Amino acid sequence: MKHQWIGGREVQSKGQALEVINPATEDIIDEVTRGTIDDAGHAVSAARQAFQKWRWIPGAEKAQALHRIASNLRGHQKELATLMTLEGGKPFCENRDEVEWTASCFDYYAEIGRNSRGTSLPPVFEHQVNFTIKEPYGVVAAIIPWNYPLLLLSWKVAPALAAGNTVVIKPSEETPLATLALAEVFAELPPGVVNIVTGFGEEVGEALVRHKGTDLIALTGSVETGKRVAQSCAAEIKKTHLELGGNDPFIVCSDADLEVVTRAACWAAYLNAGQVCTGAKRFYVFDAIADDFTDRVVRFTRSLKLGDGMDPNTDIGPAINLTQLQDVHSRVEEAVRDGARILTGGSRSTIFKKGFFYEPTVMVDVRQEMRLVQTETFGPVLPIMRVRDIDHAIELANDSTYGLGANIYTNNMEWAMKAMERITAGTFWINDPLTDNDAGPFGGMRQTGHSRELGEEGLDEFRETKHVHLDYKQEIKPYWYPYSEYNKR
Ligand code: NAD
Repeated sequence: MKHQWIGGREVQSKGQALEVINPATEDIIDEVTRGTIDDAGHAVSAARQAFQKWRWIPGAEKAQALHRIASNLRGHQKELATLMTLEGGKPFCENRDEVEWTASCFDYYAEIGRNSRGTSLPPVFEHQVNFTIKEPYGVVAAIIPWNYPLLLLSWKVAPALAAGNTVVIKPSEETPLATLALAEVFAELPPGVVNIVTGFGEEVGEALVRHKGTDLIALTGSVETGKRVAQSCAAEIKKTHLELGGNDPFIVCSDADLEVVTRAACWAAYLNAGQVCTGAKRFYVFDAIADDFTDRVVRFTRSLKLGDGMDPNTDIGPAINLTQLQDVHSRVEEAVRDGARILTGGSRSTIFKKGFFYEPTVMVDVRQEMRLVQTETFGPVLPIMRVRDIDHAIELANDSTYGLGANIYTNNMEWAMKAMERITAGTFWINDPLTDNDAGPFGGMRQTGHSRELGEEGLDEFRETKHVHLDYKQEIKPYWYPYSEYNKR
């Protein structure tokens, strides 16, 4: 059994074992601790103690530590990517890329973390100086989902550490192994600066959220979990950082290069078996090219290979678990009952004896009001809806409670810019879906959340501003008491 990492060492807990299952084979691949409230408490105490020193470590030294983490991650790329493939099911090449992006994020915050700590402001009166300093919150609880276990961890941990916070990480109960393997990478930090507790959200996650010693709860997860966390934090006015579900639209205009957009659409819909927060989940296609686009997408979808992520020929891996697969299938079935048609896919794959494989699925005659379209369908489903023109596409794209990302394929500048300005989304991709940039802020609008990760905004999420007012001349101010004198002026 893999143990938790608290205060710079492996800690054996009284908690029971939690099995980790390979979604491609349904085999139990390892066990980790099912963390307890006590474990969460020990991790928070270790982080609180470490915070007293870590916050004062000079920026250049913190930067060196973060760069070392990045290079250690790259040194363990194969081992980490393998663990992620075994526990999460993504194809190995996607996980190999994820380790590189994770390292790149640590490098990025090593660089910008020491650039500035506030700004100088013009004073109101002479002989005064005004400036701001940005301070760490204290102990950050970083609660991570299973779909990008290391990347989404780095988007919180790297800026949090650069800003001077210490961290308790709670990986998803589905994918704790690659995160626990990072203990080796984090071991060179002072003990307690980073801690890892494993277990269920409702147990160890909630314990971290409610603990008086955590100052900021940074969560990536579903809207439902975000609402629960926000409610708990509201009682203490505790800061939250919420990156929640998405339901991204993908607009295909009449001038799109169909060869390119076919591949782009399939990749954006099926990446990580459709289990990506910024995956494209609703396709709005101009009438003029809808038939051609649909035929091409169906043909390309049929050519994709479903399989074990360790097989280099696999394009699409399994769903993370049976519940997830059944949730996706129930939405597809419901849409069919309401008049949608399946052109390919539409059921659990029968090719494999084991594993949670769902066939990549293309659907037409889909309507905007269907649950498949209105809520986040976290699976390899590509529903196509026809639109008259750009205004129609914008209207339907905006008909959502989510606001994470949005995509468009066109070289018509007026259509692209109009859609960019009018669609409510934290990221807008033109002719290249899902590409992130360490320097570009990432996050959602509406119920997707109110935070940003990456970029300078992503650093500021983990520090708060103090305004400093300084008068370098001690003098009695004319507007002080007694007012009898002030009023004579
Ligand atoms: P989830 O909400 O079930 O779990 C996320 C994390 O929260 C897990 O570690 C879980 O154990 C923990 N958790 C659950 N209940 C909790 C509670 N009451 N208190 C504290 N912690 C709790 O999400 P998931 O199924 O792991 O991930 C998929 C979801 O994450 C999707 O909705 C997806 O869109 C979203 N997501 C969003 C982004 C983004 O950047 N906006 C990125 C990736 C995934």
